[in-house]
Parts: sequence; C-alpha cells; structure tokens
Amino acid sequence: MKDFPKLFIPGPTHVSNEVLDSLKTPQIGHRTPELSVLFKEIHDGIQKVLYTKNRIYLVSHAATGLWEAGLVNATKKGVLHTVNGAFSSKWALVSKSCGYEYDVLDYEWGMGTKSEDIDRKLASGKFDVLAMVHNETSTGVKSDLESVANLLKEKYPDIIWIVDAVSSMAGIKIEVDRLEIDLLISSTQKAWGLPAGFSVCSVSDKLFNRSKEMHNKGYFFDFEVYEKYRLKSQTPTTPSLPHMFGLSKILGLIEKEGLESRWARHLEMAHYTRDWALRNGQLLFPENGCESETITCIRNEREWDINKINEILLQKGFRMDRGYGPLRGKAFRIAHMGNVYMEDLLEYLNVFEEVLNGL
Ligand code: PLP
Repeated sequence: MKDFPKLFIPGPTHVSNEVLDSLKTPQIGHRTPELSVLFKEIHDGIQKVLYTKNRIYLVSHAATGLWEAGLVNATKKGVLHTVNGAFSSKWALVSKSCGYEYDVLDYEWGMGTKSEDIDRKLASGKFDVLAMVHNETSTGVKSDLESVANLLKEKYPDIIWIVDAVSSMAGIKIEVDRLEIDLLISSTQKAWGLPAGFSVCSVSDKLFNRSKEMHNKGYFFDFEVYEKYRLKSQTPTTPSLPHMFGLSKILGLIEKEGLESRWARHLEMAHYTRDWALRNGQLLFPENGCESETITCIRNEREWDINKINEILLQKGFRMDRGYGPLRGKAFRIAHMGNVYMEDLLEYLNVFEEVLNGL
C-alpha cells in the first residue's frame, strides 16, 4: 500500500500503528454479551476522562449529528450560539435549518467568547439553550468554560448548556460535573486519535429530563432511545465496531499515560509550538490567553510561502495545514494532539525548519 503522509492537520489526526491494529479486531454481534462488556468498558472509561457520572452515548456518525441531537432534545424557546470561527458559525446554521429561534453572539475570528457578553444576551429571557464551541478548530482558540459555568450556575440555572469539544475532548481537561455541562460533544478523529465517523457525548440529568418533555424528536437523535439501549449497554443501531475497538485501545493507553500526564503532554507540546513560532518571527493568531492546547494557529506575519512549504513537506512525508478557509496562507495550524507525542512534534518542526532554510 502507498505510504501516506503523516498528519499534522487538526483532524483527522495521526493514528498510530498500534491503534490502527486494534481496528482489525474481528467483528462481534451487536446484541451479544461481548458487545455489552465492550460498551460498558468504553462508557465507564469515557466517564473517567470527562470527570463525570453523566450518561455516555456512543454514536456511529459525525459530531455534526450531535449538534442537531443536542438542539432536538433541548430547545423549547431558543438557542444562543456564540460564534467565533467556522465551526461555531456552521452550528448556528444548523439551528437555522432546523427552524429554531436562535441568535448569534458574534466575535471576530481569533477571539474567545466572553461570559459578560453571554450574560447580556441571556438576560433577554429569549433562550433556553446556550451552544458554544470550546476549542474553535478553525482558529486554534480555546474559550474559557470556567467563567461561563460560573455565570450559568449563578444566574441561569435553567439554561441547557451544550459544549462542542470536538477538538479538545481527551486532549484538554474538561471537568463535566464540576462545570455542570449538560451536553459535551466530540467525534473521534481529533484528540481521541481515531478515524472519523464516530462520536461520543455526555448527557446530564437536566438535559435528559428536558428531552422527556420534548415532542417530535424523531427517532435517530432521541436521547430517550439512546438511553433505553444504554441501560442494556448497547447502542440503538448497529455500531461501528472498529471505532469501539479503537476507543477501547485508546482508553487503555490513556489509563497507562495517566490523565494529568496526558493534559500536561498536550500543554507541553502547545508551549513548544508557540515558542517555535515566535522564535521564527511569526505571531500567534488567537487573542492572548485563548491559545489552544491541541492546535497552534500561527499568524503568517513573515509571509512564508505556505503552498511551497506544503509541497516540500509532502515530499518529505508530512501533511501540513495551510489555514482554514478565509485564513488560508494568512494563518496556518499545527495540530499536536492524540497520538502525536513530543518526539513526533520535534521531528515535524525540525523538518519544517529544514524546509524553511532551503527556501
Ligand atoms: N466542531 C468542531 C470544533 C470541529 O472542528 C469539527 C470538525 O472539524 C466539527 C465540529 C465537525 O465534526 P464532524 O466532522 O465529526 O461532524
């Protein structure tokens, strides 16, 4: 088989050989005791990673489906979306296309969301759901969950809080129970370090009780259906078993690494990458204090020829990111999460520097 370049893009991320091997585990029946054992192991393992007792659902589709699931199970009045990049913007479009009442709290790309602004919007009383993206993959911006959690606990305890942690879950510490996040969403192709096409989420009692009051939820996204099967340690539909075997493998690796060491590893790689960028005369794209631990977005201040660098890096076996959408060429991202360890990052940045020197 052709050797594909090693991925340093922010998803799909690099899947190591030992994880790839786990995907080849022979299939099992999805209504068998062995599936239930596997389900329970993954369920309880994810609870530990998220510091939660909330129910965990495993779904065989992209995280975008969980955006919609969150809205369907929670929205009676309206949704407030914080929008500070491409993914949070797309999520607001989902609300629009589903016909919900919604509003957006817009930020310039590169900015993090601010709890004071959220407070101002929620004070209108028009919303019962707050939807925000923790780690905006398009800009490498991590928004502060702590201040939003404090705001909601203090002033808006009835709001259902939905957080997209697609590019942060399993790479950045998120304490779901302490923060009281009602729905935390991720797919597997980022910091979980697995192929795309599978997602996981945690659902609070508050959201589950809200779901019970909702009508016309359809079947596929109904949390009551998910719950009925979770109680049997199963999934409502035939699951992607390779993803489940992969998750089991990754959870074993996480246990071996230790949660605190895992968060520290991601932070160390982020610090290294930020310093590398600054040392090379570039700037960081996110506003100060909002830099992500899983993705470094670098403002291309020195106007490096990103297309040329990309071409040479590809010849050397690495796939770089050239910047998301409108940022292409102006800012580019380096992903350091999941199966990317310090030695992988060092190798990549050294080769990157060789390429720069040769230009
Ligand atoms: N949210 C964020 C922050 C993302 O980065 C992405 C994909 O890159 C998505 C949602 C969509 O995920 P999926 O492709 O699994 O639907």
